[in-house]
Amino acid sequence: MRKALAVVVCCFILATGYIAYVIAERQNALQKFARYNDSWAVSQAVGEYVRFETLLAEYALGIDSVGKEELRLRLDIVLGRMISFQQGSLTAFMASKPEMRQAVGELDKILERVDNQLDELSPAEARALLPEMSGLVPQLTAIAAASVANDVEMIDAAHAEVRKLHIIYTALAAGLILCGMALIVLLLRHNQLLNRAQKKLTLLTEELQTATLELQSNNLRLEYDAHHDTLTALPNRTLFRKELVRRLNPESRIDRVALLLLDLDGFKEINDTLGHDVGDALLKAVAARIVPLGQSNELICRLGGDEFALVTDNLGEAEALDVAQCLIERIASPYNIGDMEIKIGTCVGIAISQEKVDADDLLKHADLSLYDAKRQGAGKIAVYRDYMQSQLSEKRSFEADLQSSLLNNEMEVFYQPQVSTQTRDICGFEALLRWTHPVRGQVPPSEFIPIAERTGFINTLGKWVLETACKEAVRWRPDIKIAINLSPVQLHSANLIRNVVGALERSNLSPGRLELEITESVLLGNSDQTLAILDSLKTVGITMAMDDFGTGYSSLSNLRHVPFAKLKIDQSFLGDIVTDKQALAIVEFVVGLGRKLGMTMIAEGVETEQQYAVMRQLGCDQVQGYLVGKPMPVVKLAGLGVYA
Ligand code: C2E
Ligand code: CA
Ligand code: CA
Repeated sequence: MRKALAVVVCCFILATGYIAYVIAERQNALQKFARYNDSWAVSQAVGEYVRFETLLAEYALGIDSVGKEELRLRLDIVLGRMISFQQGSLTAFMASKPEMRQAVGELDKILERVDNQLDELSPAEARALLPEMSGLVPQLTAIAAASVANDVEMIDAAHAEVRKLHIIYTALAAGLILCGMALIVLLLRHNQLLNRAQKKLTLLTEELQTATLELQSNNLRLEYDAHHDTLTALPNRTLFRKELVRRLNPESRIDRVALLLLDLDGFKEINDTLGHDVGDALLKAVAARIVPLGQSNELICRLGGDEFALVTDNLGEAEALDVAQCLIERIASPYNIGDMEIKIGTCVGIAISQEKVDADDLLKHADLSLYDAKRQGAGKIAVYRDYMQSQLSEKRSFEADLQSSLLNNEMEVFYQPQVSTQTRDICGFEALLRWTHPVRGQVPPSEFIPIAERTGFINTLGKWVLETACKEAVRWRPDIKIAINLSPVQLHSANLIRNVVGALERSNLSPGRLELEITESVLLGNSDQTLAILDSLKTVGITMAMDDFGTGYSSLSNLRHVPFAKLKIDQSFLGDIVTDKQALAIVEFVVGLGRKLGMTMIAEGVETEQQYAVMRQLGCDQVQGYLVGKPMPVVKLAGLGVYA
């Protein structure tokens, strides 16, 4: 479009230039017309010459009426006219014809002579001049005729030129009109396009405005999402941290910031047993209970999982403890989720900002106090004290020591016999880890196993127990089995099957002699994956024993689906079995059920002969406990006659 406009404008400029040129040309042609009077002047000159000649002839004849004055007048007229021969285009015309030039030359000479003689000219002298003068008349007439013909020619040429110019002018004008029309059309089209573009632009602007608004609202939503927990709609860890940093900044002029960290007691179990939907619903219900608490400037956040935080300003320790107690009470009342009534408690860790404490420090303090509260048990509160820091250091050094225990040869596998109830013959041993630290001394498994599980070191430790115990067991009589404890963490490790099969291969122990003890809690949650692992272990030929039966949640249903060959009744049942009829009834029921399901039943923690007798009477296949043998180092096994 722009190009077209540019072309049309150029055409206009060219056409204007050309028209100017054509007009100038036309003026030239008109000028020529003006000059065509030359032929007339020549004719006049010739006429005057003839007239003068006639007058001279009359004078020569002596006609009285002709005087010298008249002759002089006529001669002057002739001489005057003669100038036309030397003027304008006639000069060029004459120059091109030598005979004319010659005739004019002769004319000049005669006239000059007449002019010189006229004053004393006698009629006789006049008569002598006449023949010469008359001799020039035909040539002069020819010049006049040629001049007229030349003029006619020039006029024709000028006419042709004018006609040509006229055509060019008309064509140009028509072209300009067409160009103008084209330009108008183009301008109209351009206008139309501009209108369309403007409409589009308006539309785009509107769309842009809508998009901007949408973007703004999206941004707000994103901002909200980035700072809030999707499940409970509470502010999340990001906002919590920002807020903590802001409040602890001296510019906020807040003297003291109190931070209360909450961690629900046993939430993981509820989540695992009742499913994530119930877990989520419970978290929402808990969040609703603690919001709002009514403290000034309080901010309640969900930090993740079952961890919540409350930040308030200017709260003393006693008031913070009151708030914590209030939170515990609020959370503790039962929840109705679906058709279930669920109870859950919480521990609270409190930290109150002192001078020069930043957000990280305060959070660390609150974390330490929460850890301390958890250590004390469910529903406890702890306020940060400096010793907690050293406790943490101790915890870290404990973890480091545990990590290096294997390399330092501080670990040992003890073996506790399992006997057949009927014969009291040893039918197996349970491998139990023992850690003797050079400074800490004997560290019980109940202390280091949970930490090894938390740090993941249990995988290394468990592999080592497997290797060690299998190598030991292969030396025993073929009827004696080895039972090895498997942590739930190990069960979810990708290397488990490879480690077990590897240990069997390297020790050359028959898979049928290996029994893996797992607690029923591993069956909670993630059960498809767990069942698949248990199935593959069974395929290898290994038997599974359910450890600590009766302490978990889903006892009975698990018995149907999981490939357990053995059931270990937890030692907590054995304690009361002799005195408490209900405990006895439970154990009796469990033994009967297990046997019906074709499982080998074993009771652990048998310490007295009475307990032993009861178990034998109930038909329990095997027993394990201090009565028949404590866990012992490998050197002690020699005396038991178990070696092949
Ligand atoms: P557990 O598998 O239930 O092991 C039985 C625990 O009961 C052992 O404690 C054993 O010494 C103790 N015990 C045996 N008979 C009696 C008795 O008659 N009376 C009493 N009061 N206790 C008895 P230990 O060796 O301290 O182990 C504690 C727990 O540590 C074990 O419980 C097991 O869960 C874990 N554990 C021990 N060794 C290993 C291991 O190699 N791997 C894994 N994953 N866990 C292990
Ligand atoms: Ca066990
Ligand atoms: Ca046990």
